Amino acid sequence: MAELSAAPGAAARPRPPLHRSISASRHYCLPSAQYIEEVIVQTEIPRVARSAPWHRWPSQCAVCHGWGAGRICGRCAKRFADPVDRCRRCAARVVAGIALCGRCVRSPPSFESAIAAVDYSHPWDRLIGDFKYRDGLDLGGALCDLLMAAHQRHAADTPDWLLPVPLGAQRLRERGYNQSWVLARLCSRRLGCRTDASMLLRIRETPHQLSLPRERRLANVRGAFAIEPTRRAELIGRRIALIDDVMTTQATADELSRALLVAGAQSVQVWVVARTPPPEH
Ligand SMILES: [Zn+2]
Ligand SMILES: [Zn+2]
Repeated sequence: MAELSAAPGAAARPRPPLHRSISASRHYCLPSAQYIEEVIVQTEIPRVARSAPWHRWPSQCAVCHGWGAGRICGRCAKRFADPVDRCRRCAARVVAGIALCGRCVRSPPSFESAIAAVDYSHPWDRLIGDFKYRDGLDLGGALCDLLMAAHQRHAADTPDWLLPVPLGAQRLRERGYNQSWVLARLCSRRLGCRTDASMLLRIRETPHQLSLPRERRLANVRGAFAIEPTRRAELIGRRIALIDDVMTTQATADELSRALLVAGAQSVQVWVVARTPPPEH
């Protein structure tokens, strides 16, 4: 490929080789956002293109397929993502005026609070499926928008660390990326907080939780997560938000939260795009 001439004033700035971004980003098999940004900078695409807000470029709505700004148009966001009352502790739907659901009153989770943008139902189940299983990374910005709107509605604290729920090595290989890490990167940029995909480790694969009774779900994830041993000191006294695409049962968030609190974290919140109704038993 022919070399492109450098822009005035840009020649003195050291630039990392492009391949370094790929090898350093073991959480992606696809090019990372950082890699794409470096390609843009290094090929000297004009400044105006670099500073353009990508999520406002004309795009087809992923729900109604109409044309507008962003991947979810304002009409669909209003129709399908209108705020509802949720339990402050676990983000399950509650009737208006109730702060905590009965389940959290009886047996509160280890995390301090939870926010969810939408219910895991039409059309979000399909969109999150596309985002998670069918390389729909272009939906990340729109899902991040939903989550940030929920964050503002709840006036939730900005955490010191925004940590993605980790995938096991086998699932990461199969999927090619961790969808929670995509969300964590996008949201941390908006909020200006730190994020890291290697702080939390999934040391054991866990089968899908939803079909299991409560005791089995808790046993299923017990000991499945760990904190990166060389990074534990960075979490002491810090406020953490765990981020994930969906909270199906609370068992995973509960176990991760417990591990973070044992490691010395000051508090743990849970942020999810979508919340499924809690299981009956
Ligand atoms: Zn639409
Ligand atoms: Zn609750």
